[in-house]
Amino acid sequence: MQNDFTHNGIRTHRARILLGVIAFLFGILGIRLYMLQIAEWEQYRIKSEKNTMQPVIIQANRGLIRDRNGIILVDNRPSYNISVIPPRFLANIEEGKCNGLLERLGQIVDIPCETITKKLQSPNRYFYDPVNLKLDVDFETVSIIEENRYDFPGVEIQIEPRRGYPIFDTPSAVSTEFSHMQHNVSKSFPLAPHTLGYIGLINASQYSRLKAEGYRYDDRIGKRGIERMFEDRMRGHKGVRYIEVNAKGREVGSFPEKTDPPIPGEDLSLTIDWRVQHAAEHAFADSMRGSLVAMHPQSGEIIAIVSKPGFHPRSIRDPKAWQLLQTDPSKPLLNRSLKGEYPPASVFKMITSIAALDMGILKANQYRLRPCTGGMVFGNRRFRCHNKRGCGPINLRQALVKSCDVFFYQLGLRVGIDNWHRYAAMFKFGELTNIDIASEGDGEARGLLPDHAYYKQRHGFWAGGNMLNLTIGQGELLATPLQVARYTSALATGQLPTPHVIKGTQGGTTSLPISKAVIETVRSIMIDVVNSPGGTGHRARLPDIVVAGKTGTAQNPHGEDHAWFVAYAPAENPRIAIAVIVENGGGGGRVAAPIAQKTLEAYFEHAVPKQKRTNELFVVNNP
Ligand SMILES: [Zn+2]
Repeated sequence: MQNDFTHNGIRTHRARILLGVIAFLFGILGIRLYMLQIAEWEQYRIKSEKNTMQPVIIQANRGLIRDRNGIILVDNRPSYNISVIPPRFLANIEEGKCNGLLERLGQIVDIPCETITKKLQSPNRYFYDPVNLKLDVDFETVSIIEENRYDFPGVEIQIEPRRGYPIFDTPSAVSTEFSHMQHNVSKSFPLAPHTLGYIGLINASQYSRLKAEGYRYDDRIGKRGIERMFEDRMRGHKGVRYIEVNAKGREVGSFPEKTDPPIPGEDLSLTIDWRVQHAAEHAFADSMRGSLVAMHPQSGEIIAIVSKPGFHPRSIRDPKAWQLLQTDPSKPLLNRSLKGEYPPASVFKMITSIAALDMGILKANQYRLRPCTGGMVFGNRRFRCHNKRGCGPINLRQALVKSCDVFFYQLGLRVGIDNWHRYAAMFKFGELTNIDIASEGDGEARGLLPDHAYYKQRHGFWAGGNMLNLTIGQGELLATPLQVARYTSALATGQLPTPHVIKGTQGGTTSLPISKAVIETVRSIMIDVVNSPGGTGHRARLPDIVVAGKTGTAQNPHGEDHAWFVAYAPAENPRIAIAVIVENGGGGGRVAAPIAQKTLEAYFEHAVPKQKRTNELFVVNNP
């Protein structure tokens, strides 16, 4: 018993020692655990964040836009942006205080520090996404930030491609053959801004719609023109690379094997010839408002398309400049070529002429209508001829050359509204041209070709006096410069082309159901308009090329008349058809014809080799 007791006592003692040892060991473990979890937590946190892998977006190069000869009209060039990674930067400043780092940064980028903090708290961004603080900064600002980069954790200089306009930004990028055209070019706007369009910061509604397609809240997107319409083809796909960053925000390594390279956007080639476009834009005086459309009459390829006044596509980056453009009463942002609607005036007299000739009402050289005495009474109203002294006895040929209104009043009444409308509709007035940059782009205006039913519906009755206005291209009739250029092409060739700006588009043509002889007659009269003595279009003459044309002066109840001129050349083998309008320009022959002439001159100087020209040229007998 005692033995047993003694034995038991020893065992209990041993067990207690063992328990003590275990408790001691657990104690150490507990303390260690405590130290690990609580005391060293902060240290470990810092260590684990010291080097992190960060994705960095690589922007894709946007597709270039070239002219018909491959000359680059729009490219990409580096733009320096100052951006901030908010958590890194904000960790180093006192919350809510505009002093220290924040104040210094504000001074360098010239932004109030309240604005900076506001920007950094933007709710749309991801945690480590850089926030753009200032775009397009100059090199001096870049240098200051670069020199002090260790003082500004989280502040970065990002290089972003920006749209460039090489013909204007670096004239040497274009062949020296055209260097004489480069003078003063840098002061002007890039070519064809209404057609090319521009890119700008994605807005909130676009972003929420497009973020699933990989857009970021500070991306740029095509806002207008070709840039907008072909956004999907030109934007490309962004890439991503990964960098190792230490706790101070410095890049300490990279993971090149993980890089997903960007895919550049698709280039676009246009049918525009930049040299002709340039000449056409500069043929307009700075103060002029208006439009010019030049096209290849057989194919419908647009050679030049001008809307004045213009604007600089980069103005969208400057809110004040952009605001001014939007409120400018001369509407510089309006694409007049596609959306401007004007009465076509006397350039429409060929419609009445074609109708009368095709219907056999008269022949071009017949004196079948009453002489012009400077005006004529119809109903209870006197309708005047622009020639107040009267044009005298006159036939169709002379009436078009002199643009006699009284002759066309009488002829219009003979043709009648229904026939007049039928012939005008053959040239698709009042219809969309379906130019390739309109329907999914910024759109185009339809113009207005009124018929008998239109007047009945609108005014309750048809009055014969309306015909007198319509036959001289006035009244309620409206057309866009593009429609008028297409009509001029059809007069040149007998075929109505579908205009297009993107190279390779197949627009197709429509044959006019008009006798060839009639078209030929009208063409021969249009040669006289420019080339006969006293022809109203004489200011469009060229020394060794025969130009055919027609002037127009559209009455404008709101001010000075609008000046029109249409032309095609060479008359016997047309390669270019042009429509020009100068708003409030006055007489078409005086103001618009010289603009067409300068454009034609540039076209034949640059776009058609001399040798080819003389071979194909038909020297016309007209004096
Ligand atoms: Zn007259």
